[in-house]
Amino acid sequence: MDDPQVSIIAPLYNESETLPHLVTRLNTLMDRLSLRIEVVLVDDGSRDQTALLMQELALADARYHCVFLSRNYGHQIALTAGIAAARGSEALFIIDGDLQDPPELLPDFYQKLKEGYDVVYAVRKKRKEGWLKRMAYAGFYKFMRSISYVDIPLDSGDFSLISRRVANVMKQMPEESRFIRGMRSWIGFRQTGIEYDRDARLVGTSKYSFKMLRKLAYNGIFNFSEYPIKLVTRLGVITLVFAVLYLIQTLIKKYYYGDVPQGFTATLLVIILFSGVQLLALGLIGEYVLRIFFQSKGRPLYIVREVIRHQERQADYDT
Ligand code: UDP
Ligand code: MG
Repeated sequence: MDDPQVSIIAPLYNESETLPHLVTRLNTLMDRLSLRIEVVLVDDGSRDQTALLMQELALADARYHCVFLSRNYGHQIALTAGIAAARGSEALFIIDGDLQDPPELLPDFYQKLKEGYDVVYAVRKKRKEGWLKRMAYAGFYKFMRSISYVDIPLDSGDFSLISRRVANVMKQMPEESRFIRGMRSWIGFRQTGIEYDRDARLVGTSKYSFKMLRKLAYNGIFNFSEYPIKLVTRLGVITLVFAVLYLIQTLIKKYYYGDVPQGFTATLLVIILFSGVQLLALGLIGEYVLRIFFQSKGRPLYIVREVIRHQERQADYDT
């Protein structure tokens, strides 16, 4: 097989239930298209049968290229590993391994690439997740948009097709705390969106539900210095909220009932309010220092345990 034109990249974390379905759909898609396609599957330190299934797959089918990470690094890092491993000479198609992003849309995305776009990202028309999650996502994207210095399109995820040159730029971006959709926007070139319906997860549960806990555990073990800074931020927020509530209450008391000694209110408020502001400010600065701290270690973003690529194994036997 010549070098593939398009790489389909899917990170997998404990997806042994979904994987067979994913493979069936990818195979049907690849058989239908005349493009030379490789599939890059990244095992993000799964604890179930995912790695085993991937191993069998990569050895049996030359179109599958499997990367196994040394432990669980999280979705964004797993994607990063996939992008680094992909050989697609024209484009990289990034999807979720749980089939929430229909791979069948590849031809539509590829069409846009041919029209001269470097980034084609998917925009979710309708989410099929619970209303709480939907609201949280909507709030997050709005917030991101208002504070971010790059223009991140609303309701677009990592599901996208990026050109080879965008992938090359991404590979040169060494940041430790990765937010792929933000990096993608930052890179620029011509970008466009395609609307689609995000499917509900086929089987299994969201692998993100315990993510926060897991992250906390890792940090606790490997980097216990992060926690105090986070604590300070939280304390600042709590103090501020308390101060504001107290402010409202005291003002009401003062003006409607007049039962507060002169000067007391102002003094107390200033103390509480500014302690809160200071703690918050410290915490916020801490967040940035923390990122500098992690980045300055210059550690690799991930460790690859093994790579199985049918083609290369065969090459080994030939010589
Ligand atoms: N994933 C991963 N590492 C993780 C968590 C998730 O590689 O630590 C993968 C997961 O297998 C899936 C994709 O990232 O293919 C999206 O994860 P998930 O479906 O859990 O996220 P959600 O769709 O709920 O946002
Ligand atoms: Mg999902």
